[in-house]
Amino acid sequence: MSTTVLIVEDDPQIARALLVNLKARGYRTFHAATGLQCLQLAADAHPDVILLDLGLPDLEGGDVIDGIRGWSSVPIIVVSARHESHSKVDALDRGADDFITKPFSMDELLARLRAALRRALPDPGQAVVETSDGRLRIDLSSHQVTIDGEPVRLTRLEWRVLEVLASNPHRLIGGTELLTTVWGPEYGEEANYLRVYMSQLRTKLEPEPSNPRYFLTELGMGYRFTP
Ligand code: CA
Repeated sequence: MSTTVLIVEDDPQIARALLVNLKARGYRTFHAATGLQCLQLAADAHPDVILLDLGLPDLEGGDVIDGIRGWSSVPIIVVSARHESHSKVDALDRGADDFITKPFSMDELLARLRAALRRALPDPGQAVVETSDGRLRIDLSSHQVTIDGEPVRLTRLEWRVLEVLASNPHRLIGGTELLTTVWGPEYGEEANYLRVYMSQLRTKLEPEPSNPRYFLTELGMGYRFTP
């Protein structure tokens, strides 16, 4: 059975480009041009993933997410204009899984789509994460990290930060989410903790800590592990 994508986009040209490209790659597609149509189609068609434009004519993107999250955990990738960074943060806080900024390349969009779908079907055997260059290896079950086979010593908190990122490859992890997961609910605002710990992790794990290759900062949003 083919994967179903609900495209929520009021710009007819962008919607058409998405429909054509996704169909060409074997996805089944539905299109909604408004927030209300999106909520209706999400309930009727049960898509496997939703691409949600934040700037819709009728509803706020965040309200659309709330409407879906009330009953469904379907992956939602928010598509937004560059100037809407505040609403992107809001969208992630309200349960969107990822975001992509317009103008986007179709290759990037398809990669994000595949990543969101992979996460929706987690592979329980995926206990070892290795970077594509083969240099860094993270064993999530034995809590061991090696660089070119040499063990790296991490503190308990460094490991916790790394564990969250490495368990979610390619996913944007919001700063607040990372802080509350690692330190606890009352630490959501302590962005300086993350700067310190990310810098320590990069120093220990990146080939060139000042020019990160695995642990990327999404400015004002959070962090992304790209193995
Ligand atoms: Ca729009």
